[in-house]
Amino acid sequence: MLPSLAFSLVLSASVALAAESPIAVQPFGQTHDGTKVSMYTLKNSSGMSVQITNYGATILRILAPDRSGRTADVVLGFNTLAEYEKDSPYFGATVGRFANRIANGQFTLDGRTYNLAKNNSPGGIPCSLHGGKRGFDKVVWDAERTTVDGVPALVLNYVSKDGEEGYPGSLKVTVTYSVTDDNALRIDYAATTDKATPLNLTNHTYFNLLGEGNGDVLGHRVMINADYYTPTNKGLIPTGEVAAVKGTPFDFTEAHVIGERINADSEQIQAAGGYDHNWVLNSKDGKLAHAATVSEPTTGRILDVWTTEPGLQFYTGNFLDGKLVGKSGKIYPYRGALTLETQHFPDSPNQPGFPSTILRPGQTYRATTVYRFSAQ
Ligand code: BGC
Repeated sequence: MLPSLAFSLVLSASVALAAESPIAVQPFGQTHDGTKVSMYTLKNSSGMSVQITNYGATILRILAPDRSGRTADVVLGFNTLAEYEKDSPYFGATVGRFANRIANGQFTLDGRTYNLAKNNSPGGIPCSLHGGKRGFDKVVWDAERTTVDGVPALVLNYVSKDGEEGYPGSLKVTVTYSVTDDNALRIDYAATTDKATPLNLTNHTYFNLLGEGNGDVLGHRVMINADYYTPTNKGLIPTGEVAAVKGTPFDFTEAHVIGERINADSEQIQAAGGYDHNWVLNSKDGKLAHAATVSEPTTGRILDVWTTEPGLQFYTGNFLDGKLVGKSGKIYPYRGALTLETQHFPDSPNQPGFPSTILRPGQTYRATTVYRFSAQ
């Protein structure tokens, strides 16, 4: 066979293979150190579409229908990789090795003290936030398009080296994204390690059910299936107390509009500049359970969150300051989004009373979170 014919046969075979995957792939630029990254589009038959890049295993877009079937992009983000590298407050990112804060960037495990980068200091109190200087949100993951239980899935793998960002153990992490026909984005996490390490993975998508850039989220209604939360000090580090929400602005066991109590005369709310706390979810058995519902009355969009995790960080974009301009050229205002970060509790490595976040060799970490969209 002529070499050029052989080449074009190989080429057309691989093009055919790529065309067969229901997950489309296109370039998403290259990092400042020259690594090419891609953007993957997952669609279902009910009008939902999710775009993900393997930079930071980051959700770039979620198109979800409103009550009249009109879709809007309901998550904050940028058009270019350069903006994600430079400016992103964890828009859509996978966060690790340890989501949220570790007090003073330090923990002791099996008698040894580990020091992490202190990359955050709310209230002037330094801590390590979201995995440190170069957390899982800032690395390039290996991507594989496959099918899990008959549903197209994007599998993203990353190996975090022993000592990376100060954490012990070489950690293999897998994040699998799939979009099901009931308009749910499912995220499955798995990890193994060769040395004991703290581990807490989450996704940091900023939702605005009006559509990204369409104002603030103060009119969104929120229900959180939690009777308790973990109050924080001025550094947004849990005090260790597990406090009842009853009778406080943290009681979302019945739906409340966010704006109703966000400026309440509460030390907890004032220190955080709004909601930025960990709720202790009522379901404690590690099975997939309903955690929260958010609805937006004008569009009718509803977001339901299900998770196997024990905690939920509900954050109302209090650090958004109107300086970032998003995908459609609109400014992202103060409180222009909310996050629903399913997680173990912040600072768990220093809090013996909290559920353990230590993964040991021979164990497999598994967690699942589902974000399901509907409209009414
Ligand atoms: C934290 C906020 C933090 C934000 C970073 C959230 O998970 O709870 O305090 O500012 O992430 O964008």
